[in-house]
Amino acid sequence: MTTHSPYAAVSDLRHQFAGSVLTPDDAGYDAARTIFNAMVDRRPAVIAQCTGTEDVRAALAFADRTGLEVAVRGGGHSVAGASLTEGGLVVDLRRMRSVTVDPHARTAVVEGGATWSDFDRACQPHGLGTTGGRVSSTGVAGLTLGGGSGWLERKFGLASDSLLAVDLVTADGIEIHASEDEHPDLFWALHGGGGNFGVATRLTFRLHPLPVTSLALLFWEAEQGPDVLAAYRDLVVRGVTEDLGGAVAYLTGPPEEFVPAALQGKRVVVCIGIYAGTAAELRDVLAPMLALKPDGELLTEMPYCDIQCALDDPPGLRNYWSAAHLSALPDEALRRFGEQGMAMLVPTASQSLLVPWGGEVAAGAQNWPQPHRSAAWVVHPFGLWEEAADDAAGISWARDAIAAMQPFATGAVYLNFIGDEGMDRVIAGYGRENYARLAAVKLEYDPRNVFHLHHNIHPAAAARRS
Ligand SMILES: Cc1cc2nc3c(=O)[nH]c(=O)nc-3n(C[C@H](O)[C@H](O)[C@H](O)COP(=O)(O)OP(=O)(O)OC[C@H]3O[C@@H](n4cnc5c(N)ncnc54)[C@H](O)[C@@H]3O)c2cc1C
Repeated sequence: MTTHSPYAAVSDLRHQFAGSVLTPDDAGYDAARTIFNAMVDRRPAVIAQCTGTEDVRAALAFADRTGLEVAVRGGGHSVAGASLTEGGLVVDLRRMRSVTVDPHARTAVVEGGATWSDFDRACQPHGLGTTGGRVSSTGVAGLTLGGGSGWLERKFGLASDSLLAVDLVTADGIEIHASEDEHPDLFWALHGGGGNFGVATRLTFRLHPLPVTSLALLFWEAEQGPDVLAAYRDLVVRGVTEDLGGAVAYLTGPPEEFVPAALQGKRVVVCIGIYAGTAAELRDVLAPMLALKPDGELLTEMPYCDIQCALDDPPGLRNYWSAAHLSALPDEALRRFGEQGMAMLVPTASQSLLVPWGGEVAAGAQNWPQPHRSAAWVVHPFGLWEEAADDAAGISWARDAIAAMQPFATGAVYLNFIGDEGMDRVIAGYGRENYARLAAVKLEYDPRNVFHLHHNIHPAAAARRS
């Protein structure tokens, strides 16, 4: 690598670039460096808004020539701000958002900057879909390469379980097609190893028939929490159908007509049900929850693409989240989860989520880098608030919520649900054996560790092993 002044070289880059190249003096620069988490305020030297693979290659070659640190940006939803670099170069993929559906083959080919909204809206007319992010503005690539947890995971597995191929550009500008048959080691690593290996320009997914879907949102005042949590736990533990995904959560009652006025803006406990089937079936499945007589209720059939954006969190808030896997939910675990729900900052857009795993999440576990998919539950305190003055309270709430659940935690973690919590947590996300195997793949495809900003798998870990 040779190092030159980035600014002198920018005009060269602009000449060979079909998209836009922004530097701090350009109009649109500040908007282009804004990401979902308003706590992250970094000023890249260059934002390369790519329109295709050639632009991605040109941007990476430019970073190599100038010695700039590289960040890759899709949906901009990394809570730690991995898609921004102070003084470096952002490979911004937001102009690469096409989704091409082949309804006969039941596949979708998705560009590297597409969001789940792009994906779900392209699939909906064909009655097809797959597990996608719970918030429709999240990037398809970022979420899927990290594993990809979503409402229908108990039926279809994690998003990456439906990944058939990835087209990727390495730091050296080499284009690779990774699939079961080509670069199988890399293909394995891309099922959870994140953006560590290169820039994914296209991802190919298997799609699943999804003709009818339904949504249930059942609200109670927060004081009902212990009964609601216990009923939900018992429903899942008895063996509820895999067609049901969802969560039980504490949040602020939204200003919606199906939420009684007295609960709007107040702490509530909610049962979220996303169901691959009719509303009548969902009513039967959720009968034990409905027997608790919710104070507010929405239970209706709805196109999957509309369900997928029905619970979208607003951008521009300050964020901190964490997560832990739980092996079981004894009464004491429920009590602690409820206590943390009652401590959450309200009114805010925060959510304290308890998500059931099992079903296809566990069934797909044996093949891929995240070995801890047999966890029964995932606890996910998801803090979002407006004011910098609340930063300390928001962050310590999420940390305390995880600390309180430690006696029931497996020690593993789903990395998409946390920010930068240090190397030990990254290793915990994969387990030591898989981390070492991932590091060997990293050594082969990104030995200089160019892609290091997001849950980094360090190539040196493989070098140390051999
Ligand atoms: C509101 C919200 C809801 C979320 N819900 C879920 C959820 O339901 N399930 C879940 O699993 N996660 C969820 N997440 C976490 C999210 O999946 C991860 O933060 C993911 O990394 C975000 O991807 P992105 O493209 O939106 O973000 P970015 O910040 O743009 O990207 C994050 C990192 O992903 C990698 N990356 C992104 N695109 C590419 C690409 N094309 N090629 C190579 N690397 C790439 C890069 O390393 C990049 O730094 C949520 C996050 C938020 C903010």
